[in-house]
Amino acid sequence: MIYENPNMITRNKLMKLWHRKIREKTCYCYICGKLILKHDDLSTDHVVPKSKGGSNSSDNLKPAHKICNSKKNDKTLEQYLMELHEQTH
Ligand SMILES: [Zn+2]
Repeated sequence: MIYENPNMITRNKLMKLWHRKIREKTCYCYICGKLILKHDDLSTDHVVPKSKGGSNSSDNLKPAHKICNSKKNDKTLEQYLMELHEQTH
């Protein structure tokens, strides 16, 4: 019997679903709100960062551009948007 990490299964399943979604129609980055194109690097982001107790459940995982995700890092979306706002004003 091989036991797999259930979190990994969920994540892989989600990634597959999202990649299929992108191929079929449209998918928006939940961080910048822009369309994720086929050639963009897709990543999954934790709405509540794991460092703040966020889970790996599908409710807490959203599709995002890899670049947006890395810029946001482990901040919450609110914190990140606030920072962006401060930088541009
Ligand atoms: Zn984005």
